[in-house]
Amino acid sequence: MDRVAEDYVKLVLAVGQHDPDYVDAYYGPAEWRKAAESAKVPLDVLATRATNLTTALDGISVPSTAAGERELSELRLQYLKRQVGATSARIRMLRGERLSFDEESKALYDATAPTLPESHFAEVLAQLEKRFPGQGPLVERYDAWRRAFVIPKEKLDQVFKTAVAACRERTIKHLKLPAEESFTVEYVTGKSWSGYNWYQGNFRSLIQVNTDLPVYIDRAIDLACHEGYPGHHVYNVLLEKHLVKDRGWTEFTVYPLFSPQSLIAEGTANYGIAVAFPGEERVAYEREVLFPAAGIDPRRAAEYYEVQALFEKLAYAGNEAARRYLNKEIDAGQAAAWLEKYALMPRARAEQRVRFFDQYRSYVINYNLGKDMVAKFIEGKAAGDAQKRWEEFGRLLSSPRLPSGLR
Ligand SMILES: [Zn+2]
Repeated sequence: MDRVAEDYVKLVLAVGQHDPDYVDAYYGPAEWRKAAESAKVPLDVLATRATNLTTALDGISVPSTAAGERELSELRLQYLKRQVGATSARIRMLRGERLSFDEESKALYDATAPTLPESHFAEVLAQLEKRFPGQGPLVERYDAWRRAFVIPKEKLDQVFKTAVAACRERTIKHLKLPAEESFTVEYVTGKSWSGYNWYQGNFRSLIQVNTDLPVYIDRAIDLACHEGYPGHHVYNVLLEKHLVKDRGWTEFTVYPLFSPQSLIAEGTANYGIAVAFPGEERVAYEREVLFPAAGIDPRRAAEYYEVQALFEKLAYAGNEAARRYLNKEIDAGQAAAWLEKYALMPRARAEQRVRFFDQYRSYVINYNLGKDMVAKFIEGKAAGDAQKRWEEFGRLLSSPRLPSGLR
């Protein structure tokens, strides 16, 4: 398996020469990267290499060792097969093959999102309509109400760092992280995403926060947990510690963005918010610490999160817009209009989101479907026990589990 793993890493690096978004992180041998950069191998050659890897993996069986190790080795084999399968699919896409939204998400992320009708969202919108009665489009009334909850630009860094410290404190109480782990934060503009974790290896990340659009108070904890603790930063750190450094599994030194690993990454990053701040703990912390730090009236914390809970029921509206848009049933303008109406995104945010669809396509399902799949998997084992939830969450972050393996 180690030999196939090495070939897989080199294949991913070679595909990265055709697709600038493909290699999200790499911290393996520098000479492998140099070799990939020195020659742009044609896609048909890479397709053959991927097929050969699949054949090689089909011929491997996991040796019968101790039960715990055997389960992990079995996960490793299944994981490599799916990751290579996703690489094959991405190569086919780069060669011009068109997949439907669902075919693409199945091939790349090992999952398909449910298809929901307009009526599903209309029910939630009717409740929000009652909450924000008045004239004109609901999105404008909602947006006007929300303006009081924007973090002022000059306070953003302080509020974000406070949130990061709180998320870290909660995480390290339950998960053992290497002493050297750390990350740096940068504020950027002109991106299709709102935050990004660039993992550097050696337990370090670079986290970028996009300030193109107003940053609302809920984004402080969301981003701090999602990008940092116990989200992407911790996930990458634990994979590096347990799989790369302890076991020498090279395949984890590379992270191809368009692969099943992304559903686990985004799903755990989003679900990790509720792991770090379960139940009422979040509103209590926001009221006591973050609202005052941002200069927002703390008496309004509960009100804000009541509306947020309703708004979150619209999470799958973004998938529907993306599905229709990428299946070419609607154009970019119609997709933005759909997001305004059903996901209550103001125009500028809706347009930013359509740019995200252009760049990352069916990747959108990893956030909400990923979160729901991870939640079900963890809660099925933890059954409401906070300590057990952390244990199972830590185990998932440290193992090569596939989206289809969450069922
Ligand atoms: Zn993410």
